[in-house]
Amino acid sequence: MVDSLNDIVVECINCGHEVKTDFDWIEQRKVLTCSGCGSSFPIHAVYDMYYEQVPLVKDAIDLIISYAKQPWTITNGKVGYSKKVEAFLKKGGFDSLLERILSDVVKYGDSYLEIISDSKTKDIIELKPLEAKSVTIKLGKEIPYGRAFTGEREIEEFVVKNRSSERRLAPTDVIHSKSRTFLHYAPYGESVMRIALRYIHYLRTSGANALRLGAGWWVDYLENDICLGIGVPRIFLEKNYAKYGKPVLEYASTVLIHSVREAQEPIENSFRGQLFGQLIGEKDFREIPRLEFKKPHFEMILKNGGYDFGEEIKNWKKALDLKIITEEEYKKIISKYLGKS
Ligand SMILES: [Zn+2]
Repeated sequence: MVDSLNDIVVECINCGHEVKTDFDWIEQRKVLTCSGCGSSFPIHAVYDMYYEQVPLVKDAIDLIISYAKQPWTITNGKVGYSKKVEAFLKKGGFDSLLERILSDVVKYGDSYLEIISDSKTKDIIELKPLEAKSVTIKLGKEIPYGRAFTGEREIEEFVVKNRSSERRLAPTDVIHSKSRTFLHYAPYGESVMRIALRYIHYLRTSGANALRLGAGWWVDYLENDICLGIGVPRIFLEKNYAKYGKPVLEYASTVLIHSVREAQEPIENSFRGQLFGQLIGEKDFREIPRLEFKKPHFEMILKNGGYDFGEEIKNWKKALDLKIITEEEYKKIISKYLGKS
């Protein structure tokens, strides 16, 4: 059994034996070792196993990713800068990389892309995804804020280990998109599954037995907590959730939108902070353009749950006819209902 809140048990990916660990161990990406069969594996392998084998986990994570994968724009930079950045992302296949990046950020907490430059011209030519489980971060000296040290340390290099090779990459050669963590200076991000690990384990080890004994409430309880931990209210995993009504959905949507932004923001920040400046040769951060994803909105989520906006549209049309709102305002509102923006 688990002793304290900080303790976690996961399953060995090879033999299913319980492996005891804790939050700090996972946060530092230390290798897990099974005392049953002796095998060692990274926490990423456990996340993969749960994602593939627990349909609820997969559905919740896929929902975050599908809402996070939105059209993007480059904003706020000088015109020349913005165009250059946008052209690079389009040519470099950013859209086809995006799902992978999002998936890594949500599942593991970290996505790493290697920035490949032409050896002669030094121009950046390509972004290449690295397997999150193969990357470790070597930290350097502490970063002072004024005269205070917060514990945050410089990234000295990224170490990429594969079966037979080990490469060391400079911080400027990697785009590291890292999900938000409790400590802002933690070097690695946090999987959406981390907080739910305990419940996922209980579900897998006791779920079938509970159902056999007629204790469906136990499974329900665990499944609700897993969804909340991942950040997806469970009602969104049902097909026609419109039946729950607007007030409930409005509340639940803010939770979902928050989770989606937690997946989008690390990518917006890392691309701006770690790639764009290099790409355009600009050191002044204020001059560097931003990457912005479209944010999912309430109407979009309601519509996907089968909500019919007929009544709303009728009322807005009346308001337009009475000139309470302008044609422009009307169009803007309606396009949201129709899912066009
Ligand atoms: Zn084992």
